[in-house]
Amino acid sequence: MRCQPIGLYVHIPFCRSKCPYCDFCSLPRPSKELMEAYARELSRRIRRAGNHYRGDSEADGRVPVDTVYFGGGTPSLLPPHCFDELMEAVREAFCILPDAEITAEANPATLFAEMAEVWAKCGVNRVSLGAQSAQEAELKALGRLHRWDDVEETVGLLRDVGIDNINLDFMLGIPHQTPASLADTLTRALGLNPTHLSAYTLMLEEGTPFYRRGRMGLGLPADEDTADEQAISLWEQACALLGEAGYEHYEISNFAREGFRSRHNLHTWQCRDYLGLGVAAHSCMDGVRFGQSSDIEGFLAGKDIAEFTEVLTKEDEVAEFIMLGLRLSDGIDETEFFSRFGVDFWHTYGPLCIPFIEKGLMAREGGRVRLTEAGFPVSNTILAELI
Ligand code: SF4
Repeated sequence: MRCQPIGLYVHIPFCRSKCPYCDFCSLPRPSKELMEAYARELSRRIRRAGNHYRGDSEADGRVPVDTVYFGGGTPSLLPPHCFDELMEAVREAFCILPDAEITAEANPATLFAEMAEVWAKCGVNRVSLGAQSAQEAELKALGRLHRWDDVEETVGLLRDVGIDNINLDFMLGIPHQTPASLADTLTRALGLNPTHLSAYTLMLEEGTPFYRRGRMGLGLPADEDTADEQAISLWEQACALLGEAGYEHYEISNFAREGFRSRHNLHTWQCRDYLGLGVAAHSCMDGVRFGQSSDIEGFLAGKDIAEFTEVLTKEDEVAEFIMLGLRLSDGIDETEFFSRFGVDFWHTYGPLCIPFIEKGLMAREGGRVRLTEAGFPVSNTILAELI
């Protein structure tokens, strides 16, 4: 019997166009027919997964779910009736708890009133919007098709249908970005009063046009150390500005108003089970990590193509728990560590943590060990010592 609720991720692999920095599984300019076929097949697989994990001894056998996340790609691009169909399958196959967080990702200029109403009707209570920047030149450099006005319009549409829990995603290290342009972007974002903001550094992912153009081709510093210093300085600026505005810096790249942390992402960061459905979706269930292939044609043909399956050893689980736990401002709960792994965290890792604590990069208090704000930017160095 499964007592702990899981998180459910549903992947929608379609976008209006392909951004030149993106290596997510997303197909540009899909036809309506393709999206309908995908939603049909995905609904079938959602029901199948519900049956697969269904237990005998629970009230109605369905697995309890406390977060559902429609990610992509661009879920707001789906025809509204397809979203309805998917949500119906999710509710039939899993036991969605009454206070579940149900998030859908949207891109500005792809969400219209009809879809916003369908989302509200289906119980979507959180939307994550890919705003990225408020500067025309930066949006253009990123190959984004929207303007800042579209972000404001989308937020208005969501509020009109009663969805107030809104995350805005931003990017750091964009070509042409300066401390002044970042300050302007974040000030405009704060003017929209989102409950949550994310700020991730632009990465040059292999296989993307940005990767092929390289740093120099993008007007970014060619030297990695200089690039890192610039990215850290922009990140520090974002932390200071959002902190002053009352947002809690609860994860390296994430900021929330009190009570509005992303519960879905916490599933991952706290190493709790989550199940991913759809092409390229990853899962971690009962100590096994597995991922679906990104082959959309194979998916539509009903084939089950695994990209990988990995049974986690205890060492893997410990390393992951430390690595993800230290991304959070709450850090690692020593009592939970002991109950999960039967190992005294401080006895094993304390000697490695002490030098960082002495430098003010880590702290130990209230039965928890965590990175400090000064420790976050050097988390990779600290983790390399610990695991
Ligand atoms: S909108 Fe998002 S998922 Fe789609 S191509 Fe751009 S970055 Fe990738």
